[in-house]
Amino acid sequence: MTQTFALTPHTKPPVPPEQFEYKDLKQGEFWRHIPAYAEVDEATFLDHLWQQRQSVKTAEELLETIRGVCSSEFYADAEEGFRQAPMAVRVSPYAIALIDWSDPIDDPIRRQFIPLASALLPDHPRLTLDSLHEQQDSPLPGLVHRYVDKALFLPLAVCPVYCRFCTRSYAIGPDTENVDKITLAQTPKQWQEAFAYIASRPELEDIVISGGDVYQLAPKNIELIGNALLDIPHLRRLRFATKGPAIMPMKLITHTEWLDALTSIVERGRKCGKEVVLHTHFNAPEEITWITQKAMRLLFERGIFTRNQSVLIRGVNDTRERMQLLTKRLGHINVHPYYVYMHDMVKGVEELRTTIATAVDTEKFVRGSTAGFNTPTFVCDAPGGGGKRDVHSYEYYDRENGIAVYAAPSVKPGQAFLYFDPIDQLGAEAQARWSAAGIAEQMIREAIDNAGLENDQLVLA
Ligand SMILES: *Cc1c(COP(=O)(O)O)cnc(C)c1O
Ligand code: SF4
Repeated sequence: MTQTFALTPHTKPPVPPEQFEYKDLKQGEFWRHIPAYAEVDEATFLDHLWQQRQSVKTAEELLETIRGVCSSEFYADAEEGFRQAPMAVRVSPYAIALIDWSDPIDDPIRRQFIPLASALLPDHPRLTLDSLHEQQDSPLPGLVHRYVDKALFLPLAVCPVYCRFCTRSYAIGPDTENVDKITLAQTPKQWQEAFAYIASRPELEDIVISGGDVYQLAPKNIELIGNALLDIPHLRRLRFATKGPAIMPMKLITHTEWLDALTSIVERGRKCGKEVVLHTHFNAPEEITWITQKAMRLLFERGIFTRNQSVLIRGVNDTRERMQLLTKRLGHINVHPYYVYMHDMVKGVEELRTTIATAVDTEKFVRGSTAGFNTPTFVCDAPGGGGKRDVHSYEYYDRENGIAVYAAPSVKPGQAFLYFDPIDQLGAEAQARWSAAGIAEQMIREAIDNAGLENDQLVLA
């Protein structure tokens, strides 16, 4: 028997105006409300050299710039925050101008770059400085070869800004009061050694060129590195990774030589059948303004495919609505959201981390709100060198005590990798358990047992 269904048209109700917030980018000369930039015209603000020169590179300079816009309590709080921070300081005028100085404490851009002593939380007892164990997967300075067919090339240690949450705070930026940095490949001789290693490993197909940040590479070095890698026959894919477009988008508009250098590598790659793309690092929807839109349009016109990697950061993008807004806004400027990372377990930024449960919940909400190829995968770069894992793929998750156990069968078979939720986000009883001697080790052992994996080494480390 066949059944027939009457076709009734279902009219979707019109969507409320707030659904279009992602298209509503900051316009005009928004920087002029900062006293230090009140007289700065558009041509000057868009000049990448001006942005670089005016970037504040010490806590004192930053504090001088914002003195006129913040309260003396905030000023003192930030001053003490910088004294305790493991990262160096560098903030672009673009980023400073985007901070809502009427409410700097809760501002998503302030949270990423300016530490406040009053907000700092004690580190999780399982935190280490190089939580990803990059140094253990490093055959020579400036190269991390963890996965079989791809490697991370770190040709420099400087960035256009220094992010408080940086994974590589063990290496990036100048030494700080609390951290003596190790060295990455910073000289052309070290670059040549990295190229020789890559050329000697036929299994490598894919190189991430990061740092530091490729925004700080001179155009001739973009070409030198790009061409040297394109010359290696077994390489199929290159990605240039930069935070730049998120905090200094005008460079793409006014530093023509830099964009031309990147374009020449992308075009040469295309001619020899190799993919060369740009990876950006936008975290907050507010980072995307009319200037960003104009910059990303230039990349799009030149056929430079762009993907974004974000970090899930408390108070920046860790709610369903904020992450959905960021995702839609990235799609709107032709950037494909690629990954959202769990915040790495790095020191001194505990108040920025979120729980695995938050990531799982946020992911479920974001998926389905736009094109699948514009929907990021939420990953946990498992501490201890397991590599990126889909946040949903834990073998076991003790939500109460905030312990997630991941396996990485194709990267480090047979090992367990643990991620720990920030303790202040747990219930009172779980918080007490973490501070009682001996109990923590037992909870971790139980989680690993429940996951059915073994890793005595990690537990005893
Ligand atoms: C993230 C990363 C890569 C690239 O991984 P994808 O998942 O392909 O983006 C390569 N090497 C290292 C060490 C990494 O951390
Ligand atoms: S730009 Fe990237 S490498 Fe540099 S400090 Fe920020 S997160 Fe770290």
